[in-house]
Amino acid sequence: MTDIPEDAAQRSPPAWRRLPALLAGVRRAALDALYPPICLHCSQAVSAPQALCPVCWRSLGFITRPCCERLGAPFAVDPGAGTTSPAAIADPPPWGRARAAVRYDGVARDLVHAMKFGDRPDIARLLGRMMATAGAELLADAELVTPTPLHRTRLWSRRFNQAAALAETVSRHGGRPMAPDILRRVRRTAPQVGLTRTARASNLRGAFAVASGARARIAGKRVLLVDDVMTSGATAAAATRALLKAGAAQVDVLTFALVVRAR
Ligand SMILES: [Zn+2]
Repeated sequence: MTDIPEDAAQRSPPAWRRLPALLAGVRRAALDALYPPICLHCSQAVSAPQALCPVCWRSLGFITRPCCERLGAPFAVDPGAGTTSPAAIADPPPWGRARAAVRYDGVARDLVHAMKFGDRPDIARLLGRMMATAGAELLADAELVTPTPLHRTRLWSRRFNQAAALAETVSRHGGRPMAPDILRRVRRTAPQVGLTRTARASNLRGAFAVASGARARIAGKRVLLVDDVMTSGATAAAATRALLKAGAAQVDVLTFALVVRAR
């Protein structure tokens, strides 16, 4: 290659060096032609991969302000900026702020189920991107992003840790470091489904601990805790308490969906 003038070589790399990129482009175009992108919920054709069709997108119950600054729950009427809901005042959560992208119903519930039980990292990437947008304020203040861990035995049976997959996308989009191994589930807990709010809290008491060796990484840090759905908040509260106990300066919670109860 020494006979190529230096300036020409800089302007345009030789054809053989561009070949892998060209082949990758051809392969992508062929795959797109064979498998046009489809809506991740209803399988209608869509223009971009890893997206929802306009009908599914519009059916999502996006949570925007006004919402409770502490719980992230939407207000039916705007009580003014920076307001905390009566529920958060009566029973203050251990975290600073919680935010969710959407209400947990309809298409949102289907997507969470498909992601959780169907091994679907493509859905996790879409939901993670939506979370990064909804939680932009929290991400801006965060110094670390960490997922809510599954217990080892549950991770084995399910294979796919949806919270870790969501946290990875949130961390990448927010430009904040991901720390996947800070929290451990030290005790296997009974499934939360069907338990009352009080029973959920006691079921999870002491369920999480900060991994030995991770304390130095979170000491004095603002941590963003990520999970797929917030129901009663008991899981997030137990994980937050473990992080605070281990020295985190502040914990915010970001989930894809929030169970919003009719009031
Ligand atoms: Zn659709």
